[in-house]
Amino acid sequence: MSVTINKASAQGSASRFAGKKVWITGHKGMLGSAVVRNFDGEDAQLLLTSRADLDLTNQADVHAWMEEYRPDYVFHVGAKVGGIHANATLPASFIYDNLMIQANVISGAHKVGVKKLLFVATNCTYPKNAEQPIVEEALLTGPLEDSIRAYAVSKIAGIEMCRAYRKQHRCDFISIIPPNLYGPGDNYHSQHSHVVAGIIRRTHEAKTLEKEEFVVWGDGTPRRELLHVDDLADAMKCVMLAPTTHDLYNIGCNHDLAIADLAAMIAETVGYKGKIVYDTSKPNGTMRKLLDSSKVRALGWKPKIDEKDGLRSAYEDFLRLLDSPTPGARIDL
Ligand code: GDP
Repeated sequence: MSVTINKASAQGSASRFAGKKVWITGHKGMLGSAVVRNFDGEDAQLLLTSRADLDLTNQADVHAWMEEYRPDYVFHVGAKVGGIHANATLPASFIYDNLMIQANVISGAHKVGVKKLLFVATNCTYPKNAEQPIVEEALLTGPLEDSIRAYAVSKIAGIEMCRAYRKQHRCDFISIIPPNLYGPGDNYHSQHSHVVAGIIRRTHEAKTLEKEEFVVWGDGTPRRELLHVDDLADAMKCVMLAPTTHDLYNIGCNHDLAIADLAAMIAETVGYKGKIVYDTSKPNGTMRKLLDSSKVRALGWKPKIDEKDGLRSAYEDFLRLLDSPTPGARIDL
């Protein structure tokens, strides 16, 4: 079984990660690759495993790999993820893959004595009618949004598993909840993408084909809080390094916008001048899920990338992918 050990250029940094082995699961995905980027110039040994090297759903393989490489820190990012349509059509894959993967990684981290593990959950773990902005204590206080229940339950299980290992074995395992993510490395699949990537793709197609209108799913009134992946990667490192006083941190930008306004911003970024229309046969999903991020702000972190710059860099990423000789599954052309 192979592993890529990427010794980043040493700069004599006094970082907690200096000389340590840091395993970033899911490093080829949008968030995982942002976490890797965030280690540029840092004196840490990054352990990176691709799906061909290590099947995270296979417990025997995951535990054997962890015994061999013994990571000090784990950023557990690897998971099956997708937008509202993917969740509605593939719920069994979402719940099965995520339960298996996180159980293997978290139990393995306990077995080999990982110093600290950070588990990435999701904002859909909160009750659909949670009071806004949503505080971490709202978890498990009410019914979930139906369209993403299987995925949400798998992530709630991950958060509770970290809590249980903290309690029973005193492991320093914590969880984070980001809002809707976007940025380089996103998945622009026509059906399975999240909202930013889906709208980037369709406004671009509408512009290229000179269509008079382009279609946004739902009625445009739900609100979403967006965070650029590089901001989240930065926050994850901050939380990993901070002394842990909480076991769950919301990591957001403190404001949200209506899908209709988001669509207009993306159309402007892409340079599409036609009309925006709404397909109300597609689900709205949760109406609002603005996070209260006071706990992470108290650690000194705040986001640096505003939506205008962030959306521009996301569109540039999409154009690069279109130009690539092997665009692959991220774009399903
Ligand atoms: P969610 O935050 O878990 O619901 O995930 P999404 O990133 O898929 O966002 C879904 C919200 O955006 C819903 O209100 C959808 O109706 C709306 N939406 C509008 N257009 C699109 C699109 O092209 N793709 C996706 N995924 N959602 C869209």
